[in-house]
Amino acid sequence: MSSGLPPGQSDQTRLIHAGAEARPLSRTVGPPVQRGSTVLLPDAASLYDEDHCVTYGRAGLAAQDALKDALAAMEGAVGVSLYPSGLSAISGALLAVLKAGDELLVVDSIYKPVRRFCDEVLGRFGVTVSYYDPLVEPERLVGEASGAARLILMESPGSLTFEMQDVPHIAALARERGILTAIDNTWAAGLLFRPLEHGVDLSLQALTKYVGGHSDVFMGSAASRDPALVRKVDDGVHHLGWSVSGDDAYLMLRGLRTLPTRLAAQGQAGVQLAAWLKDQPEVGEVLHPALSSAPGHELWARDYKGACGLFGFTLRPAPQAAVEAFLDALEVFGLGFSWGGFESLAIWCDPQLKSRRFRRDLGGPLIRLHIGLEASDDLVADLRRGLDAYAKLAG
Ligand SMILES: *Cc1c(COP(=O)(O)O)cnc(C)c1O
Repeated sequence: MSSGLPPGQSDQTRLIHAGAEARPLSRTVGPPVQRGSTVLLPDAASLYDEDHCVTYGRAGLAAQDALKDALAAMEGAVGVSLYPSGLSAISGALLAVLKAGDELLVVDSIYKPVRRFCDEVLGRFGVTVSYYDPLVEPERLVGEASGAARLILMESPGSLTFEMQDVPHIAALARERGILTAIDNTWAAGLLFRPLEHGVDLSLQALTKYVGGHSDVFMGSAASRDPALVRKVDDGVHHLGWSVSGDDAYLMLRGLRTLPTRLAAQGQAGVQLAAWLKDQPEVGEVLHPALSSAPGHELWARDYKGACGLFGFTLRPAPQAAVEAFLDALEVFGLGFSWGGFESLAIWCDPQLKSRRFRRDLGGPLIRLHIGLEASDDLVADLRRGLDAYAKLAG
């Protein structure tokens, strides 16, 4: 229906349709942001022509499509699905490929809310979940997998403890046995490590972190090179009814434009601070795969193009009050979960490690730092302030 409304209609009707006609858009550097649940179809034949028409806004409109295309280019993917959070990208991908009777192998250093999903939800649907030591030999991991093993879910470096896995090797061995592989690649932001180029079937990430980059929007993605898997995972999004808004997709795309620049600056500052921390008397071990002395460094150097700004370090053993004094003395670092934004953050990790099956003795309390875009000198001074407060109580 054109908006040349027949004369004689009431104001009530005219105001519903006034100004609503489609018109050519001027071209801007970003996509148009369309807010729409209803999509108006051009004619009756198009109403059920889902092969050629978007018939409902939940599947995403211009901004979501632009973001998917950009992420596919970054990941070297055939297709990308979007989810309302990083956690839903992982739970959604798992639900799309697993069925009752399957076994899922999950790295023990997985992001903790994923573990909760696996334990509390997948079990109820008849999927067996087994956790494996992030440091296990790939041959052993894949060789000892049961006949029911359907998928291996990796995260490298691991959440909080930063263990590196030989992802390409695991992916190659799993493929020989017909086991699918997926990785939570949030640390590398889809850019520093490209899982699909290394034989992984599904590259998952919390766009909430580095791609968004400004700590103000949630989203997740699943990328694949296999058209059948792309279809299956995307069907899973539709089955569960997930959708992301055009405004959020626009913000993600805006973040993506500066991702390489931010990652380079934050990664470099992170390595610098990690090296500085290594020399401080209050510090035990620094867990940063880009440090040549760190465990897993060779794998990182072989497969990764750089580091992001997230790493961990241990303090020498001390009462909890000293750990809290360290954190409370920080003025530039905020205390907060999440990471990937422009701001520096610190947390104490030990309570989160309790659910792990393979617990290593780290030799002292574990702190995780996210390095933002502040000047490194100010961050060093802040950490020194924290370590001084710690030393006073550490005895
Ligand atoms: C934050 C995070 C997620 C979850 O992302 P949300 O958008 O917060 O749901 C998943 N994996 C890792 C490694 C994360 O750090």
